[in-house]
Amino acid sequence: MPLSNGPRERRDSIARVARDVVGCERCPRLRAWCREVARVKVKRFRDQDYWGRPVPGFGDPQARLLVVGLAPAAHGGNRTGRVFTGDRSGDFLFAALHRAGFASQPTSVARGDGLRLRGAYVAALARCAPPANKPTPEEIANCRGYLAREWARLGDVRAVLALGRVAMDGFVAVLRETGRVPARGRLAFGHGVAHDLGDGLRLFASYHPSQQNTFTGKLTARKMDAVLASVNRHLSRSRAS
Ligand code: SF4
Repeated sequence: MPLSNGPRERRDSIARVARDVVGCERCPRLRAWCREVARVKVKRFRDQDYWGRPVPGFGDPQARLLVVGLAPAAHGGNRTGRVFTGDRSGDFLFAALHRAGFASQPTSVARGDGLRLRGAYVAALARCAPPANKPTPEEIANCRGYLAREWARLGDVRAVLALGRVAMDGFVAVLRETGRVPARGRLAFGHGVAHDLGDGLRLFASYHPSQQNTFTGKLTARKMDAVLASVNRHLSRSRAS
């Protein structure tokens, strides 16, 4: 269950989680991979200094919407140091969050680009870019504690948007550890599927905005807008009640 801290305490606590994330070395395979990607780079970014470290969550400490992704991209978050920033998935996601009123601008290209989230916080299940975009179950389990700590400090969240099945299962595992959802059984996943989790909290599922999904039309801007419209309707109702 989220705590009801004051805004300043929440900011401090979220900042502490971010510091711990950035210094984490718990997964040797991922740490070595991120460093190597940051050293070698790709041609189009060869003049940039890569972040190369774990990537913390980002957003409004008083968020009512928590967005959970899978992991940073090798030349996206692992380059820029901000989650969903500097890659096509981020372009898609933040444009949608902007249309839905959660982001101050539709683009997310670098830390310090002026982007502000309003009422939303974005985090990933694993905070280090994984080879082939696939963290192992052990690496996900290693990292889940950071999401649990953020969850405990984001006391105003009433809607969670899980980007992909793995992100949804990871978030549900965090809730299970708090006893919030039944220990057994798997919640159904599908784009637009939603689950009420009690106390006004609703979990929304979406396909992940990876190029694999957006280039093939499996996930379109219209489909993402529809889910975010449902999120906004839920948040309006929960504010009124
Ligand atoms: S994935 Fe998470 S637990 Fe593993 S090294 Fe990165 S920050 Fe640490």
